[in-house]
Amino acid sequence: MKKLAGKRAVVTGGSRGIGAAIARRLAADGADVVITYAGSHDAAAATVKAIESEGVKGLAVQANAADPQAVKAGIDRAAETLGGIDILVHNAGVAEYGSIDQGDLDQFRRVFGVNVEGVFAGTAAAVPHFADSGRIVIIGSVLGDESMMPGVGAYAASKSAVQGLARAWARDLAPRGILVNVIQPGPIDTDMNPADGEMAQALLPTIPLGRYGRPEEIAALAAFLASDESSFITGTLIDVDGGVTA
Ligand code: NDP
Repeated sequence: MKKLAGKRAVVTGGSRGIGAAIARRLAADGADVVITYAGSHDAAAATVKAIESEGVKGLAVQANAADPQAVKAGIDRAAETLGGIDILVHNAGVAEYGSIDQGDLDQFRRVFGVNVEGVFAGTAAAVPHFADSGRIVIIGSVLGDESMMPGVGAYAASKSAVQGLARAWARDLAPRGILVNVIQPGPIDTDMNPADGEMAQALLPTIPLGRYGRPEEIAALAAFLASDESSFITGTLIDVDGGVTA
């Protein structure tokens, strides 16, 4: 029997990158999976096809993570489709960079709108649908702990903010056996941070393992945290970063 057989999972931002890899992995482990996405219809459809090829239920719902009403509608639709929620992976995220010299408050609000408000609104919408003994996994970043390079203020602060949410929610939801944890990736090869991109030139020499991570390497930990095997882990942060914070 697959380890997530019968589980009902929602992955935000499941059309591309890390979210797509997590959605595929949860499906391969036996879960039905609903993904949300912002605008990439074709990529979302491709993820759903991959989910369904595992013999489980798949659905893509367009839901802008920065719009709390759209988030709630997406979560409600997912819960209705799945018949409840056991696993919620907050993966949707945006990265925008700029030094405080530019003081770009609009940029700060855009980043927090998706990376923080989206996580808050999604959890609030999902909790009523949650089965006891559920799992919430938030994709943070090693930048939540370390700045690493100039210009990351808004993004890094958004990833620090979800650490606080996860710790608080771990206590709020512990009585129901719902576990809340944060995965903090280091540099992972996706559209957001391509391994052959400009940022990679600066980052690669700082990674002890000498390479970017693959989305599947984040998905492997997400699948573990989503499973019954993570039963005594809550309110914690786990880095998957090739040693970059070592
Ligand atoms: P990508 O840019 O490759 O993919 C982002 C995903 O999020 C897409 O599915 C996208 O949907 C979705 N998304 C973006 N904005 C919204 C929105 N407003 N509403 C709903 N969905 C949205 O990013 P990654 O896969 O690299 O990143 C995934 C997560 O991992 C993010 O939280 C990111 O901060 C984090 N992370 C990434 C690292 C990296 O090096 N790549 C390192 C550390 C953390 P659509 O396709 O429709 O645009």
